[in-house]
Amino acid sequence: MNLIDGKKISNDIRSEIKNQVQKIKQKTGKTPGLATILVGQDPASQVYIKSKIKACQDAGIQSFHHNLNEKTPKEEIINLIKNLNTPSEVDGILLQLPLPNNKYAQDCINTISPLKDVDGLHPFNAGLLNLSKSWDEIIKKNILVSCTPLGVIYLLNKSNISIEGKTAIVLGRSNLVGKPLSMLLLANNATVIMSHSKTKNLKSLCKTADIVIAAIGKPKFVTKDFIKEGATVIDVGINRTSDGLCGDVDFESAKDMDINITPVPGGVGPMTITVLLENTLKAFKNRI
Ligand code: NAD
Repeated sequence: MNLIDGKKISNDIRSEIKNQVQKIKQKTGKTPGLATILVGQDPASQVYIKSKIKACQDAGIQSFHHNLNEKTPKEEIINLIKNLNTPSEVDGILLQLPLPNNKYAQDCINTISPLKDVDGLHPFNAGLLNLSKSWDEIIKKNILVSCTPLGVIYLLNKSNISIEGKTAIVLGRSNLVGKPLSMLLLANNATVIMSHSKTKNLKSLCKTADIVIAAIGKPKFVTKDFIKEGATVIDVGINRTSDGLCGDVDFESAKDMDINITPVPGGVGPMTITVLLENTLKAFKNRI
């Protein structure tokens, strides 16, 4: 087994972002800024927001946090987002999901200026990703892509795991992870299998794949029986169980195989925040 060290890869990219932010400050006197919005008190969301604010501070990015009451009506969240769309010191707006009432999450996201949509979830940015013909185009056009999926591609690239021509299966088809990740793999010339809760013969499909990416939110669902020797396994899942944190992959069952694999924690998780910083910097550059 070869462990893909997301923490190390993430730290290297964060140092580079910090350098760039410093240089921008020296050259323009301006500092990129990220506004975060947390509605309610969900413990996991509080931890994520805290980590995002800290990562901004470490990278020299300004952070503006807004904590709203759990019962805040949709209109009030939308008004706050509209107010954040204007000021020039705010380059990115991140609405922490899920909302206490997640039914209107997309309506709120749709209010974020596409130029400040650092989570890449606005239909404009999701559309740009879907219309892009290649990875080069995605990079050259500075498209704001959902953080976790982009982080997964960086993990593969930085670990010298080639994607072109490979069969990749993505477990999960959410707008946040599975769908954009499938598009990114396609842009990198993989043959992509998009799978979901209604997929038949999932195990045997996974067995055919060179790259298996699990993003379903089911603790230790992917056992060694899903994985072929020589494959790369990326575990996006973060599950809180009575035994602690674990991924969607049964790491213990697969660890003696000849595979590349990400741990949980320390794999995809740190990359998500790293790409959020990068997207904030990208949004800053796109606007100046
Ligand atoms: P989601 O609940 O929105 O989507 C889950 C997807 O999994 C659905 O498309 C569903 O069809 C599919 N699914 C469910 N059961 C399945 C099964 N048995 N076989 C195949 N597909 C199945 O979740 P999400 O937001 O995409 O997140 C997925 C996981 O990734 C969660 O554990 C979440 O905590 C984690 N996550 C991690 C990060 C990170 O930074 N590491 C970021 C986002 C999400």
